[in-house]
Amino acid sequence: MDKKRAIAGKTREILREYQIRPAKRLGQNFLIDQNILHKIITAGGVEAADTVIEIGPGLGSLTELILNRIPAGKLYAIEKDQKLVAVLADLLAGYHNLVVINQDVLAIDWPHFFAQHQLAEVSVKVMANLPYYITTPVIMNLLESGLKFKQITLLVQKEVAARMAAAPGGKDYGALSIAVQYHSKVEIVADVAPTVFIPPPQVDSTIISLYPYRNPPVKVSDQAFFFKVVQAIFQQRRKNIKNALSNSTLFRLSKEGIMEGLARGGISPTLRGENLSIAEIAQLSDILKLMAVEQN
Ligand code: SAM
Repeated sequence: MDKKRAIAGKTREILREYQIRPAKRLGQNFLIDQNILHKIITAGGVEAADTVIEIGPGLGSLTELILNRIPAGKLYAIEKDQKLVAVLADLLAGYHNLVVINQDVLAIDWPHFFAQHQLAEVSVKVMANLPYYITTPVIMNLLESGLKFKQITLLVQKEVAARMAAAPGGKDYGALSIAVQYHSKVEIVADVAPTVFIPPPQVDSTIISLYPYRNPPVKVSDQAFFFKVVQAIFQQRRKNIKNALSNSTLFRLSKEGIMEGLARGGISPTLRGENLSIAEIAQLSDILKLMAVEQN
């Protein structure tokens, strides 16, 4: 096979040559459009000496472009499908700064991965055309690892991108918006049509960049408790905040206690969670936490 032409331009040929049928259960939709690939690369801000982690390299179309951008850097590509790992090793054999890892990304403990590969978090960027069935766990594992990745640039389902970036007040704003925005600044880059993939997915996609905070703008006294409050508020999003919190089995606060907490925070009990900013929920969480401690 002619290895000089970019991988994205010969996806059908590669699939035929290596007798690969894209696996739906692994979310295998391969990018074939150079413009979109370049948009992802540009959004990722990849520079010559960067360390990049790519999740789900597939046949290597994005991988190849990243490698061409980082002659002085290194790329770790994590792929679950053993068959594709063999194809990648063959197609990208000429690159000595590529490390292909045959692993389920969800099984990765990121701090351990960094220690094992001696990575300095300040210089690591993540890029992925994610398999959509694991979008949320992959993102939360990265953000909750405590590591400050320099940038995370992803192609995800359009609706999920909208939820990650949503501001208070709309239907897209919820637990995912808060979880992602608590840890990072979110930037929507561009929408992507299904026609640029083989096979085309049934949904539209969006390129999104996350910039994990070094100094989070919202701080809470107890992060686990804060996320319990978030869960309680959005589990019953049609209910007002007083009822959502009172009905929740996540706390042991009485209805009166919750009313007092809302009053102390200056939050009207009839508001719904979707009307509250992250800072307001954080403040309420700190008050309720303090009251829970006082009660015991
Ligand atoms: N990056 C390629 C591209 O843009 O053409 C492929 C993207 S495809 C949407 C998702 C890739 O993630 C596939 O190669 C699939 O095998 C891989 N994948 C699926 N589940 C995975 C997992 N749990 N861990 C690592 N890779 C996975």
